[in-house]
Amino acid sequence: MFRNLAAAALALILAACGGDEPSAPTNGVVNLYTARHYDADLKLYEAFTEATGIKVNRLEMSPDQLIERMKAEGEASPADLVLMADAGALWRAQQAGLFQPVTTPTLESRVPAHLRDPAGHWWGFSRRARVIAYDKAKVRPEEVATYAALASSRFKGQVCVRSADNVYNLSLMAVLIERWGVARAQGWARGVVANMARRPQGGDIDQIRAVAAGACQVALTNSYYFLRIATSEAPADQEVAQKVALAFPEQAGTGTHVNISGGGVAAHAANRDNAVRFLEFLTSEEAQGIFAGANHEFPAVEGVTPPKDVAAYSRFKADPMPVAVYGQRQAEAQGVFDRAGWR
Ligand code: FE
Repeated sequence: MFRNLAAAALALILAACGGDEPSAPTNGVVNLYTARHYDADLKLYEAFTEATGIKVNRLEMSPDQLIERMKAEGEASPADLVLMADAGALWRAQQAGLFQPVTTPTLESRVPAHLRDPAGHWWGFSRRARVIAYDKAKVRPEEVATYAALASSRFKGQVCVRSADNVYNLSLMAVLIERWGVARAQGWARGVVANMARRPQGGDIDQIRAVAAGACQVALTNSYYFLRIATSEAPADQEVAQKVALAFPEQAGTGTHVNISGGGVAAHAANRDNAVRFLEFLTSEEAQGIFAGANHEFPAVEGVTPPKDVAAYSRFKADPMPVAVYGQRQAEAQGVFDRAGWR
């Protein structure tokens, strides 16, 4: 499997060569701009084309690149559909005016209300939990039962975490502000910074590997990155999975912080109907199974059972907070991190 960066680089090379460049609109096409960075998505596009005969032209970019590109393209943008990981990123795209509201009976009935924009600008189609990876030999599960624990003196010099401008961390902070208020959230951020084993660096997978390597005892990560390692057959990954376990915080309280991947129809979509069909397809049993099976995310649609290795981690109490809050509190979250010196 490609590493994320390699996959992103490949997508950019394809784009530069014109290999995957969105084409002029016709009825048989949907032009997709995506900020998701997972190889598994190729299976989704193939399955959609197989089911509908509609060809998927894909352009993969970072969230910021995607937003800037679509703003520059304006009404001439060939994009029909935008996919992004994290409700905070979807909210940014919405604020930039990239979406048009849509709704259909299928979307309404399949996507739970708290996993989408109330006005239909974007719809969630997979769930991921932001959890604590910990060193099984040094940490007891009850010591990592809450997010607050990461800021406690128990973990002085033992916390690994990525940078504060990462949207996964911004969304978690948005939830803490919503639950606790700014003052307590600020105290938590200061506590985590004081506990850091090293300066924030790398992505979530790097934090998990750092725990396994003994650089720290606990780390914040999205659930699917750990599951990717845990289900890998590579000896190095198996070694990591033997040393590290996942804790789902707040099981005795409001539930573990959950985020989404989601998508919306582009404001100036020429192939609007195809884009809506793609969104509906993402809520199908087949697509929900691909998110879970190939990328180890949890289904967004209720009643869909993920494969066994994902299901083993999916029976946790999730925070039911509407994910639209993550965007609304994003600027405040950045302010809290900045004041805490969390770079
Ligand atoms: Fe990710």
